[in-house]
Amino acid sequence: MALTGLQIQKLLPKTNCKECGSNTCLAFAMKLAARKAEISMCPYASDEAIQTLGAAYEPPVKLTALGTDKSLKLGEETVLYRHEKTFVHQTAFAVNIDDTETPETIEQTLQNIKNYVLERVGEEIHIDMVAITQKSKNSDTFVNLSKKAWEITKRPLLLRSPDPAALTAAAEAVKGSRSVLCSATAETADELRAAAQKNGHVLAVTAPGLDELAALTAKLKQDGFNDLLLEFQTHSLAEQFQTNTISRRAAIKDNYKPFGYPTVTFLDSTAGDLLENAVPAVNEICKYGGICVLPTFDPAQLVALMTLRLNIYTDPQKPIQVEPKIYPIGEPKPDSPVFVTTNFSLTYFIVSGEIENSGISAYLLVPECEGMSVLTAWAAGKFSGATIGKFAKEIGLEDQVDTREIIIPGYVAQISGELEESLPGWKVLVGPQDAGDLESFIKARLS
Ligand code: SF4
Repeated sequence: MALTGLQIQKLLPKTNCKECGSNTCLAFAMKLAARKAEISMCPYASDEAIQTLGAAYEPPVKLTALGTDKSLKLGEETVLYRHEKTFVHQTAFAVNIDDTETPETIEQTLQNIKNYVLERVGEEIHIDMVAITQKSKNSDTFVNLSKKAWEITKRPLLLRSPDPAALTAAAEAVKGSRSVLCSATAETADELRAAAQKNGHVLAVTAPGLDELAALTAKLKQDGFNDLLLEFQTHSLAEQFQTNTISRRAAIKDNYKPFGYPTVTFLDSTAGDLLENAVPAVNEICKYGGICVLPTFDPAQLVALMTLRLNIYTDPQKPIQVEPKIYPIGEPKPDSPVFVTTNFSLTYFIVSGEIENSGISAYLLVPECEGMSVLTAWAAGKFSGATIGKFAKEIGLEDQVDTREIIIPGYVAQISGELEESLPGWKVLVGPQDAGDLESFIKARLS
């Protein structure tokens, strides 16, 4: 349970030495209560204070890090709804390969996973993991494929087999990859926990019902192993939706530790077509999925899912922004036209893309607007004639171009007079309201 500032102050040395950067221990305690400081900033904090505060402020969903460098992070969530604060670590995507697939198909899928990259709003997005499922009777086939997948993709793996001996052998073969063993049951938990612990992997845990699952994670934790993921056994999309919600609610609202872990869900390859398969994946993205394993590699499906994931997991308090500057589009010359828009990433990429599509070269002036879109920035006073003019002068626009015409978005036609005043000698052209009409505007007015 979270502690108040006064409760925290009682745990501090109360010497007001200021070494933590606060004037008093009480002020520091208030910052700790608001999660704006960390107990490690007080060099004199007692072990009791460190322990008590550590437990009180541990995120309700445990952080789990995967991969050799532990760069793939899951969990650490503190809220049920994104608008309450933010979601911290996005749903990871894996693509499944069965060890009974033909060598050619396996090779092709591994190459596809390795080479897949989606560029969106300035980010490069890759497939996070590879799942290897044992369907063959031969554990060597499973182990060799696991090794091969690791060597080719260097992504953390989900090793999935009903045979604990095969899983143990695969865990050893990819030691150092910090992968996931799937999945421990009440019967196999001890054996698989030992394999995970010995080889530095994470253990997915499964049980027929939530009560049994909670008992199993609690037992593993009590035995000293806490690198766990939850795998629910559900039989319909509705049940999966409910179970994801119930367990996450229990973890966050009731601080129920047995469910305080990220989840893993394998989507069924026989569930239907790609569109039908996308629906449970959407459920995982929107409803707390830790890792979502797709049954096949399909770039069209991935684009849709990755885009949704980007939208859900973007921090609503921190709009994605591009650097304020003058962006060349194509190969502009000094007399090329100058457009202006805000530094909200989505706006920037849409506008620059439309200018590029029109086939002309141009400059795009992007002033600092705190990542807001055009109308929001204008309403907040961040995208006015005065601010754009000031930015253009500071960044030396007049030294870079000969033209003295600047094209503003149609939504802020009202700033044209003010912009002409702050940029003497310049003529302001009002462009279209929607970026989608830029191409026809350019053809009609600039070509
Ligand atoms: S460093 Fe510790 S003892 Fe000193 S003022 Fe801050 S909280 Fe108090």
